[in-house]
Amino acid sequence: MRRMHLMYHGIHDDPTSPGHFDPVYSVAPARFAQQLDWIAAQECPERFHVTFDDGDISNVTTALPLLLGHGLPERGLCATFFITGGFIDRPGMLRRADVRTLADAGMRIGAHGMSHGFLEDMDLESLRRELRDSKAALEDIIGREVDSMALPGGRGGARELDEALACGYRDLYGSRPGPDDDMQPGWRNRIAITRELGAAKFAALANWSGPAARWARLRHGALAVPKRVLGNARYQRLRAALT
Ligand SMILES: [Zn+2]
Repeated sequence: MRRMHLMYHGIHDDPTSPGHFDPVYSVAPARFAQQLDWIAAQECPERFHVTFDDGDISNVTTALPLLLGHGLPERGLCATFFITGGFIDRPGMLRRADVRTLADAGMRIGAHGMSHGFLEDMDLESLRRELRDSKAALEDIIGREVDSMALPGGRGGARELDEALACGYRDLYGSRPGPDDDMQPGWRNRIAITRELGAAKFAALANWSGPAARWARLRHGALAVPKRVLGNARYQRLRAALT
């Protein structure tokens, strides 16, 4: 059974919704509900893993009720919230009590760095501090172990995986689209769910079939080279232009 990890950020109708609206990554609540309906109707809904990055307040105000309404986690479905430690209690972001609310509702809590700086740009000492501090900050809030992490910006490779495993994480989530491959233990691929994704394309990506899947992989591969050559700051501008 190939697990598919789906990557969300905020769930927002528009810029007036609670949290930080993003024109690319904010998925409308009605559409998110449709996507959960689709997952629940699949033969093995438990192979889909819904994840959220950054810790936007809409994770608890909007996503959590919809997840619970669709029978998570009782139906074997799993959701993980990757929360940036340094963003907690900032305006529009989850507060400490919200992180506990998510954990108490049966949701998994994962780390997403302290500063949201890109780990692959950091020296070893800074990298280790981000891994260690973000894990400890969340464990302090929820009172249990945090053993998964999502790379800020999806940036990272072998060094980041080695260091994350050494720090006590078991899973490191990137943003290479596609199902998990078993070649790299601990490494998790993810599919970015964006605002404009319609029902048919969502189904194709979640099932990893057809041209939508091939295009997602191609686009990711095409962006990997300029990412290395340009450095992350200039790459961000190129990516924004291509989105
Ligand atoms: Zn992020």
